Formats: sequence, structure tokens, C-alpha cells
Amino acid sequence: MNQTQVLIVGAGPTGLALALFLAKSGVRPRIIEKNSGPGQTSRAMGVQARTIEFYRQLGFAEDVVNHGIQVKAAHIWEGGQEVAQVRLGDFGQGLSPYPFVLSLPQDEHERLLGEQLRAAGVEIEWNTAMVSFADGGDRVRATLRHDGAETECDAAYLCGCDGAHSVVRQGLNLGFPGGTYDQRFYVADVEAAGAAAIEDGFSMCLAPQAFCLVLPVRTTGMYRLIGLVPEELSGHDEVTFDQVRPYAEKLVGVSVAKLNWFSSYRVHHRVAGHFRVGRAFILGDAGHIHSPAGGQGMNTGIGDAVNLSWKLAAVLQGRADSEILDTYETERIAFARSLVETTDRLFQAMVGRGITSHLFRETLMPHLVPFLFGFAAARTAAFRLISQTRINYQGSALSEGAAGEVHGGDRLPWVTLGDGSDNFAPLKSLDWQVHVYGQAGQALQDAARDAHLPLHQYDWADPMEKAGLKRDALYLVRPDGHAALADPGQDVEKLQAHLSRFKIVPIQDATA
Ligand SMILES: Cc1cc2nc3c(=O)[nH]c(=O)nc-3n(C[C@H](O)[C@H](O)[C@H](O)COP(=O)(O)OP(=O)(O)OC[C@H]3O[C@@H](n4cnc5c(N)ncnc54)[C@H](O)[C@@H]3O)c2cc1C
Repeated sequence: MNQTQVLIVGAGPTGLALALFLAKSGVRPRIIEKNSGPGQTSRAMGVQARTIEFYRQLGFAEDVVNHGIQVKAAHIWEGGQEVAQVRLGDFGQGLSPYPFVLSLPQDEHERLLGEQLRAAGVEIEWNTAMVSFADGGDRVRATLRHDGAETECDAAYLCGCDGAHSVVRQGLNLGFPGGTYDQRFYVADVEAAGAAAIEDGFSMCLAPQAFCLVLPVRTTGMYRLIGLVPEELSGHDEVTFDQVRPYAEKLVGVSVAKLNWFSSYRVHHRVAGHFRVGRAFILGDAGHIHSPAGGQGMNTGIGDAVNLSWKLAAVLQGRADSEILDTYETERIAFARSLVETTDRLFQAMVGRGITSHLFRETLMPHLVPFLFGFAAARTAAFRLISQTRINYQGSALSEGAAGEVHGGDRLPWVTLGDGSDNFAPLKSLDWQVHVYGQAGQALQDAARDAHLPLHQYDWADPMEKAGLKRDALYLVRPDGHAALADPGQDVEKLQAHLSRFKIVPIQDATA
């Protein structure tokens, strides 16, 4: 009988991120994958700023950024003519150390995560599928199949990162309510030449009832096409690239010299009823799937993984009450639901029929969007939405208070400091910490020291107010960089009560 603290089913981006954050937090998980090796297809291309901020906490953000392409602009094409350009290069300036969208194919992204995981001492167990499991209350017993032989594994917690057809979700009878869009998508990695094949941006090519994105892939020099399968082909169960090719080439205005990979798929919009039952959790596509509009899916799975990882580590290491695990579902299911609604609206606007589609092609994209992007406020709003830096957990039992514009549950605003560093640097500790922008009073200094909470004090500067921070306020920051408690009065009793609610003990204290 194998024993492990955490059994992770699935080595897609969600499972890899969970394993990595757990390993870096001092928990060695088992991660199993039914496939024989890493994924070979590019699938999700957009890596959002919030994901890269998390990677910075683990020290490999630059590596990821260097492997991708920072998207400089969106080029909008209609009938083979470029009708508008939206500059995206620095649209999140001042909001994140990564004020851009990064284009990086999912297979390369997974390879980088896999390398980090191996360096952290965890090997993926390939060719190993979980076939069933039973939650015995104090442990979960899983039956695994490897090379035709079945073995049992006992785990304190089971994490289903096993994608849209999740065995864990099915085993928990959670259901997957939602629906499936009529339209079919295609994805192709191609060698292509033409005006819409742009090296540092992407093209969005539009025509009546037709749509295709063209994105560059840095490491291969190939282009990625994501489009709608033409209506004429919608009756076919299996669509080939040769069938799609004449439509795609005409719409995009490029000629394809070589095909690397092609797939067509239907898009669903679904969220599971729960993300946790007893000792089992579901994360990523196992819990929520939606249209690829906006490039959010994979990033949301990675966000789930980060959210759960530090809570699981704290519980397993005796640094928090197990009730803290309930906040994983409340925090992440609320975001998944709102995301499915938003991407649904965007998807309908992009591919819907009649007036919506006409509006989108002829007014919204070529005129309104570039016009709005001329305004700093609109660029900021768009960045905050797309980058996932806007995600907050204000309704969570872990969130309390407000100081300035920052509420308990919000991501800590990012600010640069006079010496060239920034206030996200201490988040590398993956530990609880207190931030004060201004002066920390003696009572707070004493309380932080007694609780073994690192206290980071920064000289007040005007940009901090612009970022929404309040001078001299107390911000208790969680290991994932969200504010838990925000208190303008440095109320030490509130701080102590907040920590004791979930019996939170910082890593520093546990190792002291
Ligand atoms: C063709 C295609 C194109 C896409 N394009 C985009 C896009 O443009 N933008 C975007 O944001 N998203 C896109 N996506 C979605 C994106 O790929 C997913 O959101 C992302 O992969 C989710 O990651 P995950 O780790 O949660 O699940 P997955 O990547 O599905 O990983 C789950 C893993 O679990 C393994 N597994 C399943 N069952 C078991 C079991 N019983 N035992 C062991 N292992 C198991 C699977 O083999 C798989 O490796 C696309 C998906 C597809 C299929």
C-alpha cells in the first residue's frame, strides 16, 4: 500500500502547478498521469499576468516570459483588410510587473512546469491512471492502474486535476451543469506567410459568420490558427485541415506551407456543483470549462491550484485548522461562475448570429474598441479583467476589513519602491506577512514579532495612494498575495483574532 499526503490525478497545467506549489511549500505530493508523456499540442496560448506573478513567487517568472512572446498589439482584419490596431504592449503599466499578455503554447508551458517540478524533487508518474477511489473519512483510498496492474494508494487528500472528463468529479457525483455551443472550433499549428501572420502580436480576422485568430509561436516560428469551423462543414463529425484550409486561407489572407497539428472541438460552458467533498477536491477543467474567448481557462486552473496549495500545506503541517480548506470552494467557485458568464457573453458577441455579430464586426471591433483603448481608464479596466489581477475573495470567511481601496480578499496592489524593488518581492517566502505603507506603530511591531509574522514596512510615497493603499494601514497578506485583513487603524486585536479564527501559524513560527 502506497501512502501519500496528497494524490494529484492529472499532469496538465493545473496538476503540475498544484504539485509544484505544494513541493515548494514543503509537501511532497504524488502526481499521476494516464498519458505516457508530456502533452505535445499547443492548446491554451495566453498566459496572464496573475499567473506570471505566481511564478515569480517560485522564482521562475523570467524563464516563462523569455520563452513566450509579449503580445504588442491586436490587429483586426475584415475582408482581408486591416481595419484597426489595438496597442496592448504595456496596457497594464503600473498595475503588475508583467503588464502584458504573454503568448506561450501550452505544451511548452507544461514542459517548463515539469522541469521546475523535477528540480523540486517530484517526478510525474506516467502511464498511471486512477480508476476509482473511496473516501474513508480519515484517508482516501485510490485504485491506480499502471501497465495493466492495479495498486492501491492511501492519501490524506485527493486532488482531481483530471480535466473535463474528470474521474474524481464523476466519483463524487457532482454533476457538470451547463451546456455546449453549437459552433465547432478548429485549432491548427501551421507554417504560414501573409500580412496577418504577425510576429509580436495577434490578428483577429472577421467576416460574416466567420472568425479566426492568428497567433505567433516563438520557439518554432509557426503560427497558431484558432477559428470557427465553417457552417458548410458543421454536419461532419470529423473535420480535417484540408477541408478547413480554403476557408481559413481566404479569411486570414495567408498561405499555409506546412501543417504541424490540427484538431477540432466543441466548446462547453459548465461549472461543477461543488469543488470539494470531504477529502477530495476538483480543480481546473475538472471543475469549470468555458469558451477560450479571453484566454482564461488554463490560467483559472493554475489559480485554483495556487489557492488550494498553500491551504493544504498549512493544514498538513499543522499551521492552520482544516476548516480553512472550505474557503477553497467559496473563493474559486464564485470566480469560475462569473468567468463562465463573462466568457459566454463574449463568445456570443463574437460568434452569435444576426445583429450581435454584425455589431461586433463592423462597429465594436474596428471602431469602438480602438477608440476606448485610447483612454487610460479603459486600458486599465481591460487589463484588470484579462490579466486576472482583478480576482478577489471579498466574500470569503478569510477576508475582513478595508483600508483605502483595498478590501480583505483583494490581490495586494503592486507598487514599485524607490530602490528599484517592489512590494511583491517578499511574497517569495510563500508565508503570511504584514505590510504597512508608512509607519508601523510599536504595538503592531510587537504583535507581529510575537506571532512570528514578518513585518514589511515601506516609506510612504504618492504612487501607493494611487494604487489604492492607505497610509499607515495594516495589511495582513496571505501566502498567495491576497490581503486577508485590511485595517486602517493597525488594530492589533483584530490581527490576533483574524489569525486565531483558522488557527493560522506562519511558517516562520513553525520553524522557529
Ligand atoms: C484543442 C484544445 C484547444 C484549446 N485551446 C485553448 C485556448 O486557446 N485557450 C484556453 O484558455 N484554453 C484552451 N483550451 C483549454 C485548455 O487546454 C485547458 O483549460 C487546460 O488544459 C486545463 O488544464 P487542466 O490541467 O485543468 O486539464 P487538462 O489539461 O485536461 O489535464 C488533465 C490531465 O489529466 C489526465 N487524466 C485524466 N483522467 C485521468 C485519470 N483517471 N488518471 C490519471 N490522469 C488522468 C489527462 O490525461 C490530462 O493530462 C483548449 C483545449 C483543447 C482540448
